[in-house]
Formats: sequence, structure tokens, C-alpha cells
Amino acid sequence: MERLLEIRHLDVVYVVREGDVHAAHDVSFSVTAGRATAIVGESASGKSTIIEAITRTLPPNARVRSGEIRYRGQDLLSLEREAFRRLRWREIAYVPQAAQQSLNPTLTVFEHFRDTVRAHDLPWRDEEIRRRARETLHRVHLPTDPVLAAYPHQLSGGMKQRVLIALALLFKPKLLILDEPTSALDVVTQARIVALLKALRDDNTMTLLLVTHDITIAAELADDVAVIYAGELIEHRPTSALFSEPAHPYTRGLLGSILSIDADARSIRSIPGEAPSLLHPPPGCRFHPRCPKAWERCRVVRPELYELRTGRVRCFLYDPSDPNRSAGEGGGR
Ligand code: ATP
Ligand code: SF4
Repeated sequence: MERLLEIRHLDVVYVVREGDVHAAHDVSFSVTAGRATAIVGESASGKSTIIEAITRTLPPNARVRSGEIRYRGQDLLSLEREAFRRLRWREIAYVPQAAQQSLNPTLTVFEHFRDTVRAHDLPWRDEEIRRRARETLHRVHLPTDPVLAAYPHQLSGGMKQRVLIALALLFKPKLLILDEPTSALDVVTQARIVALLKALRDDNTMTLLLVTHDITIAAELADDVAVIYAGELIEHRPTSALFSEPAHPYTRGLLGSILSIDADARSIRSIPGEAPSLLHPPPGCRFHPRCPKAWERCRVVRPELYELRTGRVRCFLYDPSDPNRSAGEGGGR
């Protein structure tokens, strides 16, 4: 299967007065063509930083210190501006977090489609734009003509999110990237957007890469999951394997917090402690201050990614040469 996108040893920092915020550290994973990959993790773990590095939308104080992001073999980070601009939208479409705020209140939905076409110097006349806009709005299950004539404030949050997805689909991209596509929506609307994304995933014309802090959305939508903790990739597995045998102690805690709701006590078990500051991340394994399994080596040495039967995990418990490893525990070697 083709690796559509390969991220290799990506390091991104934000330069602030107090020093560097190490938001993405040595992140490597690939996205397979035709599959849906979810990047999951708590708030502020670095998920958006990875997406913004791929889409070259990082804020001005960000610095990509090292790494490569290869899309069909081309390094997106070193691609010339114009070549990257052509690729963006036509091949790689991106719906950022809270994108609804980017809709211009003074323009109708049709005018948003027209502006998008013009921004890409395509010679389509209004009728051609309208035909294609109708096609994509139909794909996201919106009534076409009333929505094309509407201003953003006349649409509900769910409809606006569908319009944004339709705009992203306009040039039939190969890769669709969505950052928190369901946040800020009510539960019913969330379920409808998830159903829509599932249908897009299943029509086999596109690869999806989505960011979510909600692991239940990843479970529903993704074929593969990349778990991020404190700026590092700590587990990358097919979804079914991750949910049936989570390997990393953090992933186990994360899943425990949703799977072990005690019906009587109504208590949700969560992971004790706080995520570390990314200004001064802890040495060794970044999870060691919260890890119930940590030992001396974890506090000093950074674990590499170890291969499992299905996927990879960054934890010494899976180091075949370490006597402390717990062979056969989650993730099965
Ligand atoms: P969320 O789900 O809340 O968006 P995230 O997992 O996507 O979080 P990022 O937005 O990538 O996380 O942020 C990673 C870290 O970088 C956080 O500690 C955040 O505070 C910090 N950060 C993000 N943008 C900047 C910036 N422009 N300057 C300084 N620090 C930043
Ligand atoms: Fe826990 Fe050590 Fe594994 Fe880190 S490397 S997750 S501290 S056992």
C-alpha cells in the first residue's frame, strides 16, 4: 500500500521569551493511501503543530528545527512556495480547527466557492463554479441552491462545517486533513458529521488525516491511530489493535478513562498527574513522572519506537533487550 504522506523525525519549537516550547519532538509516522489516520492526544500535546507543519500554516514564532514531510516522495518543507501552493487544495485540502470563524460574514456561500476558485487561478466561469459547488454540496448532504445563496450567519454550526468540508472537496483532493472536525458542535450534529466523514472515507477516493482529542471519534472513524503525548509520538497502531490491546501505559490510561466508567460510582478513572511543560520537558521518557511502571532507565534514557506485531510503541516495556520488559502485555510482541 502506498505511503501517501511520510513524516520523518519532525522537530518543531515555538520561540517564546522564556525559551523554546518543544511542541513536536522527533515525530515520525506515515499515512497510508486510502486509509483514515487519526492523531489523538490531550489538549496542548502538539497535534495541531504537526498538522500545521504539514500544511505550512505554523505561526510566525514556530521553527521547524529538523525533519522531513514527504508527500508522494516530495518534501513539503523544502518545496518552493508556488509549487506548494498548487499542491495545497488541489491535492491536499485542510479544514483547520475553528475554521467556521474564517467564513466571511459578508459573502454568500457561492461567493466563498468563487473566491476559492479565483485564489487558484482557475479559468472557471460562474456557471462552472456553480455546477461544481452543487456537486460538492450534494456530497456533504446539503440542499444546494438555498445554501449557495445563504450567508454564513443563516446556517447552523453543523451546516457551516459541511460547507467548509465541501469547499475542501472542491478540487477533489487526494488527502483531506481535518483538525477537530467535530468540536464545538452539539452531540447530534457531531454524530452527523462523523457519519458524513465515514461516507467520505468509504468512497475510496480519498485519504483522511484527522486530529481529535476525543478518542471515541478516532475509534469510529480511523483505520490507524497515532497517539501523541507531550509533543512525541508514543504509539502508532491500527485502530482495532490499539483498542483491543493498548500497549503504552499512557494509551492504556486514556482508554481506561473512557472504558471504565463505573456504573455504580459514576466515577471516571483518569491518569493521575499533569502533562509536563513543553518548555522544560522531563528527561528520559516524557511520560515517566506519571507512569505507574516507570523505573530508573525511564527517568534517564529516551525510549525509541519498538516494533510490535501490529504497529509501534515508544516504551521500554517493549524493548526486547530489557529484562524489565513485560512480554505479552498489551500490544503483544
Ligand atoms: P489543542 O487540542 O488544545 O489545540 P494540540 O494538541 O493541538 O492542542 P498544539 O496546539 O499543537 O497542541 O500546541 C502544542 C504546544 O505548543 C502547547 O503547549 C501550546 O501551548 C504551544 N503553542 C502552540 N502555539 C504556540 C505559539 N504560537 N507560541 C508558543 N507556544 C505555542
Ligand atoms: Fe512508563 Fe518507562 Fe514505558 Fe515511559 S518507558 S511509558 S516511563 S514504562
